[in-house]
Order: sequence, then C-alpha cells, then structure tokens
Amino acid sequence: MMDLDGKTVVVVGLAQTGIAVAKFCAKRGARVVVTDGKPADQLSDKIAQLDGVPVRFSLGGHDLSTYLAAELVVMSPGVPSLAETRAAAAAGIPVIAEIELAYRFLHPEATVLAITGTNGKSTTTALTGKLCEASGRPTFCGGNLGNMPMIDAVEHPANAPGGLIVVEVAAFMLENCTSFRGKTGVLTNITEDHLDRFSTMERYAEMKGRIWDFQRPDDLAIANAADPWVMAEAKGIPSQLYTFDSRPGASTERGAFLTPDRKRIVLRMAETGEEHFPVDDLVIVGNHNMENAMCAYLATRGIGLTVEAIREGARAYRPLPHRMELVGDKGDIYFYDDSKGTNVASVAASVRGFPRPLVLIAGGVDKGGSYEPMLEALDGVCKGIVLIGKAAPLIRSAAAVHGATYPVIDATDMHEAVRRATELCGAGDAVVLSPACASYDMFQNFGHRGRVFREAVSAVGAKRLDA
Ligand code: ADP
Repeated sequence: MMDLDGKTVVVVGLAQTGIAVAKFCAKRGARVVVTDGKPADQLSDKIAQLDGVPVRFSLGGHDLSTYLAAELVVMSPGVPSLAETRAAAAAGIPVIAEIELAYRFLHPEATVLAITGTNGKSTTTALTGKLCEASGRPTFCGGNLGNMPMIDAVEHPANAPGGLIVVEVAAFMLENCTSFRGKTGVLTNITEDHLDRFSTMERYAEMKGRIWDFQRPDDLAIANAADPWVMAEAKGIPSQLYTFDSRPGASTERGAFLTPDRKRIVLRMAETGEEHFPVDDLVIVGNHNMENAMCAYLATRGIGLTVEAIREGARAYRPLPHRMELVGDKGDIYFYDDSKGTNVASVAASVRGFPRPLVLIAGGVDKGGSYEPMLEALDGVCKGIVLIGKAAPLIRSAAAVHGATYPVIDATDMHEAVRRATELCGAGDAVVLSPACASYDMFQNFGHRGRVFREAVSAVGAKRLDA
C-alpha cells in the first residue's frame, strides 16, 4: 500500500473520477492540487462537490511548476497525456492512472477481474459483475463503466479477502499503469477507435495489451481467437492464455466456443474440464453478445465461481441502455437506440444480419478510421442513411466509394434525422440510431444523444416503449 500522508499529489482532470481521487487522497493526508484545462466558471458544479475538502485548485490551464512540485500525479481517464505530465514524468515524478492508484490500495486477497477491448467492455463488465454477485461474495463492479470509478472500490466491502472487484478499463487508463493487473484479464477485441488520440493502431493495440503485461503465471488472460490484433498482443504474455471463438465450427482445448447448433456455450478449463452453458439463460442476443458472455463465463469460472452461480447470474442479467434498445414503434416501423455504437466496428456488430430492413442514423465526431466495415455490414439490410454532425461528409464519400445504392441524406439535428429516416421506411422496417462516431459535437455524451433520439421518436408519433 502507498503512503499518501504529507505528499503533494496533483490530480489531473476535475470530473467525477478526479473528484473521487481528490477526496481519497485528501482523506489520507495528502496535499492535493486539482488541475483542469477548463476555467473555474465552467466547473462550478464540480468545485462545489469538493466543498469542505482541503484541496487547492489550479484551473483554466496546466501550470508546469505545479506539476514539477508534485510527488505524485494521478490522471483521470479522459485526460490525454499533456506536455506538463510528460515533463513531470521526465523529472522522475510518478504519473499514474486512477486505476493504478486504486490497485495499490487493494487487499491482496481481493480478486480483480479486469476487462478491456474496443467494444463489449461495458456489457462484459456488467455481466461479469452479475455473475459475481450471484456467487454471494461481496462484489464491486465499476471502473470506466457508468459512474463508479475504481478508486471507490478501496472502501467497498469487496476490498477484503474473498471480495470480487470487476473493473472496466479503457486504453487510456492502461497508458499510465505500472503494476495494475487482474487475476483475470479480458481483451474482447481491438478494432479502429480513438486513433485521434493514439495515432496508430500499433500504439492503440499495445495499450490494450497492457491488460496482461503485469499478470502473474497463474493469472488468466482471456483473448479473442478471431482477432489478429488481440492474438498478436497475447504472444509471450506471462499468464495462462484462454481463448474464445464465436466462429462456426470453432473449438479449443482451453477456452470457450459455441456448439454447432449455437445453443450452448462450451467452456474448457484446465481445472474443471468441459462444461456446457445454455445460451437461453441470456436475454442478450447476437454474435457479439455471445462473445461477451464467453468472456464473462471464462473470467468467473476461471476464478472458481460455480456453474450454478454463473447460470443464476446470467439469467438475472438485463441489457444496458442505448445498446440496440427497441425504444418505440409507429404502426409497423420500429425504432432502435444504439447510441453506444460509437465506432465503426460496434455499428457493424449491431447491424450485421439485422432481421429487418433498416434506415441508419449515423454521424458525429469522426474517430479517424475507415467506415468500410460498417458499410459492408449494411449491405443487404440498409434502405438509407441519414447523416448528422461533423463526420457527415466523410461518411457520405465513404458510402459513394463503397458503391451504396440506397439514399444517403443529411439532417441538421436529431429531430430532422428521425423524421427523414421514418419517411424512408416502409412497413416492417426499422430506424436505427447507431452513429459510429463520438457524440460531443452535438450532445453531452452517448446517453444524452440516446435520450434526444427517444424524444425525436416520440415527436414523429411513435409509441414509446421505455415509458
Ligand atoms: P463498450 O463499453 O466497449 O463501448 P458496450 O458493451 O457498451 O461496449 O457495447 C457497445 C456497442 O458495441 C454495442 O451496442 C454493440 O453494438 C457493440 N458490441 C458489443 N459487444 C461487442 C463485441 N464483443 N464485439 C463487437 N461489438 C460489440
């Protein structure tokens, strides 16, 4: 465990995680400085949350001398590496991620299950959390997911012998880790995303691969056998490799796959041999969700949860909002909110083999990759694309290069997009919001984008299914 008493700690980023870290460090006697690029007047609600906590603020920019006076710098997940943090690191000051700090305060007999990947992180994390809860052991489930930073695990009942700590980890968190590890480390997939931040796929993949770098020989690494980027990262890791594979006919000696009728998930583990789990235990559907389930099952069975607990947890699991959620219908037109489809691969996973013709609403802030995998997955099911946001011209030209024969039209806002998409639909068709882009040119986040979509769905006279 780390001693923070009397240490000067700079917390970078004043949002939910930064607030939690500042409180955590102040409580342990650190001299805390909270810094953020935004000025104080844009952060008043955040500052108010630190009322009564002895911290100093350095806002509206990043002051190099503040960093160089630190004994520890803790990065919030959303903050990129800055010139000042690099200078601090070069001066020998430890610059660590919030999950690294949290990890150093965990009980050695609590078990961490860490999950990363381009897509499927939240679903796999939430499902894994459900399976852990069903075991009756104290469980913390958080990290990047929702509003539970990992630092909150330290004072959670799960931070004790036998406790289970399930954490969703983003690539930028791993960038500043030096010892963080899970007893199981899951890497769901690596596809183009965040290239605006990491610049190359190699660098992005390397960061994701860090989920395994600090593991020990008897830890479990869970990898997607069908993903060449993942398997390249799995080479030479220190832990036990287990793979999952959803492709027809797949099989493995150590890992998970589906039976030929795709009705059961087969687990093959070193300790417990072969076991079968009915797919019908789960309400989530689609190939990608079978992969998420295989990850969750391997991760939990691998640390000794019983088959009964896993099946009970699976039956209790309900999908997260904004992931292909049916939110309305109008006559015979159906409206799906997949606002969490924030990159090309996740949209491809959502629409591939979709059971009815669909009109896609896409666009927002481009992530720097190719739209081709999404356009290819849309072939045969797509009746049109309605574009919003900054990336509209990029998607329009990608569709032209792809040779799309359906209409590709523009809309100025979500309400217009839903109206125009509905006009392109016939009976039995669907309007799907799955934007393949980040949301922050028009919305606060993907949740906000999904809520505005639902309002727009109501405004075209559809019956709301979530009311
Ligand atoms: P994340 O937290 O990594 O963004 P989510 O579980 O929230 O992942 O899923 C986001 C979207 O990504 C889903 O709506 C779905 O379209 C797609 N997706 C989910 N799981 C997978 C997977 N295993 N492989 C590919 N795409 C997936």
